[in-house]
Amino acid sequence: MVLYKAGSFTTYPEEPPQSGIRLHFLGGAKEVGNVGCILEDSTGTRLLIDYGLAPTKPPRYPSEAPKVDDAVFTHAHIDHIGMAPWLTTYRTRLHATGLTAAVSEIMWSDTYKVSDIEGYPLAWDKRDMEEALDSWYTHQFGEWFGVGDWRCRLHPAGHIPGAAMIEINTPEGTLVWSGDIDTRDSPNAVGAKPIDCDILCLEGTYGGRDHPDRQEEEERLVSRVLEVVSRGGTALIPAFASGRGQDVLRILHREAPNLEVHYDGMGTRVTREWMGCPDFISDPKGMEAAFRWSRRVTGKSDRKKALGADVIVTTSGMLDGGPALWYLNRLRHNGSNAILLTGYQAEGSGGRKLLEYGRLPIFGNQTRIPLEIDKFDLSNHADHTSLCAFARRSSPSNLVIFHADEDAASKIGNDLTGEMKVTIPNNNESIVLRFSD
Ligand SMILES: [Zn+2]
Repeated sequence: MVLYKAGSFTTYPEEPPQSGIRLHFLGGAKEVGNVGCILEDSTGTRLLIDYGLAPTKPPRYPSEAPKVDDAVFTHAHIDHIGMAPWLTTYRTRLHATGLTAAVSEIMWSDTYKVSDIEGYPLAWDKRDMEEALDSWYTHQFGEWFGVGDWRCRLHPAGHIPGAAMIEINTPEGTLVWSGDIDTRDSPNAVGAKPIDCDILCLEGTYGGRDHPDRQEEEERLVSRVLEVVSRGGTALIPAFASGRGQDVLRILHREAPNLEVHYDGMGTRVTREWMGCPDFISDPKGMEAAFRWSRRVTGKSDRKKALGADVIVTTSGMLDGGPALWYLNRLRHNGSNAILLTGYQAEGSGGRKLLEYGRLPIFGNQTRIPLEIDKFDLSNHADHTSLCAFARRSSPSNLVIFHADEDAASKIGNDLTGEMKVTIPNNNESIVLRFSD
C-alpha cells in the first residue's frame, strides 16, 4: 500500500521566507519520535532533518516531505531514520556520521521485516532501501560540509555512538539542532557539549523529569543481577539494539566479569558495525572486549543453551518482539528468574503491560509472567535539569522544543521563558524565526 506519493504534498509553502529561517515539522512536534523537519531560508536553501517513524502498533509516520536535495540524519534510531528510503523518490543526498550510515541497513531491514510480518503499510520497498544505502554522504564530527548556501557540521550528541547534533551556519546566523542528546558520558559515548547559537532546536523527551544518579542505577542493576544469579535464576535484560544493550554489556563486563552473559538479537549485528567505526566509540577496545566476553547467540541451539545463562541481554527493549519474548515464554516457569527492564516502557508496549498487569502478549496469547520484575533508569536522554542547563549555555535568542509531549515541552519552556524566546511548534505548521530576536 502506498501511504503517500512524491509531489502530492500540500501544506508546505511554495516560496522561501523573506528573511530568517522557516521550520516546518512533518512530525516530532508535540510528540516523541516520528521526527522530520524542513528548514528553509531566503536563499531557497532547503534541508530536511531526520525522517523517521514511530514504531507503535500500527506505526505512525511523519507527513510527506516536499522535494528536498539534502537531508541530515542525527542518529540511527528508527524514529529518526525509518522513512529515509522513501527520499530516494527525490534522489535526496543523505548525510550522517559513518556509524549512523553503517547501522542504517540493519534498522531498515528490520523495519521492512516487521511491517511485512505485522501487515503494516510502508511507503518504501527493498529497492528504495538499496538505493538509499548508496545515497549516504558520511561526515566526521567537526568537518564542515555545504548544503546550498549553508555550511553544516556534526557534533557528538551523547545518546548513542555516532549520534550527532547539527550546527548550521546560514548567511543570517547559526542554528543548532540537538537531535536526541545526553550531556552525560555513557559507557560508549561522550556527552554532548553546548554550542553557541542564535536558534536552538532542543529535544525535550524528559522535560519535567530528572534521572536518578546514573552510577547508582548501574550499581543497583549489577547487585540485582547478582542476587538473581545467587538464587540460581537467570536475569533477562531486554535492551535496545542500538545503545542500551551495549551499555549493559559494558557495565556487567566491568563490574561482574565472572558472570556468564549471553547476547542475542539485532544488537549483536549492530555491535559489529560499531566495531567497524571505532572513532565514534569512547573506548572501542573496552567495547570489543565486552562483546567478545559475552556469548553471542547465533542459532537455535545457542538459544537453548542461553536458557541456562546467568544473564541474557536481548531485543526488543520494550518486549514488543524479538528473541526476548521467546526467552520470556520459557523463563516464566521458574520463579527464581527475573526480568530487569532498563528504561522507559512506552504506552501500549509489552513491557508497559507487564509492569501494569503482570501479563503481556506472547505470540498472540496473553501470558501471565509470575516473575520478579524490576526497572532501572539507564536512559540515554538528558533530563529536565540538564536540558535547561544545556539551553542556557548555548545562549540562543530563540529556543524551539520538539521530540517531547506537550506537557514535557511546556515544563522546559516555563523554566526558560524570560531568558530566551521559546517556541513549541505543531506538526504541519510553518514557523519563521529571526536569528536576532
Ligand atoms: Zn534516539
